[in-house]
Amino acid sequence: MTIPFITKLTGLSPGPIVTVLGATHGDEPGGALLVEQLLHDLSDQQFSGILYTGIGNPIAYKQGTRSADVPGLTNLNRVFTQTYLDQPSPHLLDVQRAQELAPLLRTTDYLIDLHATSHPSEPFICFGKDPLHHLPLYKHTRVHSILTDPNHFMGSELGTTDAYVDRHSGIGICYETGQWSNQEQCRFAYEDLLNMLRGIGFLSGNATPYKQTQIVYCITHQGRSKTDVFTFNAAVLDNWSPVKQGQVIGVHGDGSPEVSPVQGAIIFQSRSEHVRAGQTIYSLVSTTGNAI
Ligand SMILES: [Zn+2]
Repeated sequence: MTIPFITKLTGLSPGPIVTVLGATHGDEPGGALLVEQLLHDLSDQQFSGILYTGIGNPIAYKQGTRSADVPGLTNLNRVFTQTYLDQPSPHLLDVQRAQELAPLLRTTDYLIDLHATSHPSEPFICFGKDPLHHLPLYKHTRVHSILTDPNHFMGSELGTTDAYVDRHSGIGICYETGQWSNQEQCRFAYEDLLNMLRGIGFLSGNATPYKQTQIVYCITHQGRSKTDVFTFNAAVLDNWSPVKQGQVIGVHGDGSPEVSPVQGAIIFQSRSEHVRAGQTIYSLVSTTGNAI
């Protein structure tokens, strides 16, 4: 299988088909650097199986933008749905790229899609639902928090890379390394990546056993901007900041306050340049308990 901007490496012995993507959102360059590092490090290491790795969204990455298309129009990590993938000649560049990547994701046993947040954050892992199914990957990481969307706030047919792999019998996760500009956290993520690759038998050597129990969260609310401008209050700028019911989260461009309808923690606050009227600008989450 040949896919533009994706490199295939074949190990000396049989093993899992592993896909590692960086810059599925083009303005999250850390993942692309980790992919480069992985290719470099694997050049003189033995491994078992097949690795596909490269840039998720090469046009967006070159542009330094979230999407390859007009800002706010689409999102590569939301278009892995049958409706988009079945479009005969899609005009959206992100949908074209999804159609290029889809055959690879359908054959992938393990997907690790490397992302970064707009605002400061501890590293965390996202997938749609079913923590137990994803345990073989996240148990080899040091992240504390796992984000799921069992209530389908992000769509009834989740269009993320990880959910698409899950629907085709693989195990897919998005690994949020932290704030996009934080290089120190990229190193942390890279060590977790290598440990996952050991844990699934792709890299030789034993995975470092981590004992902590991850906490699973689910999305309980998503807030939308009324205008193309939104200013978050300083108290909720960091991912995972606690939010009380009735707390003012920020101010819309028309001067009206955005008030939290529920208690929880806030994540995925949009960068100001991504804010568009009617679009999601943050999510609220609450815990559903321990992962296992
Ligand atoms: Zn991302």
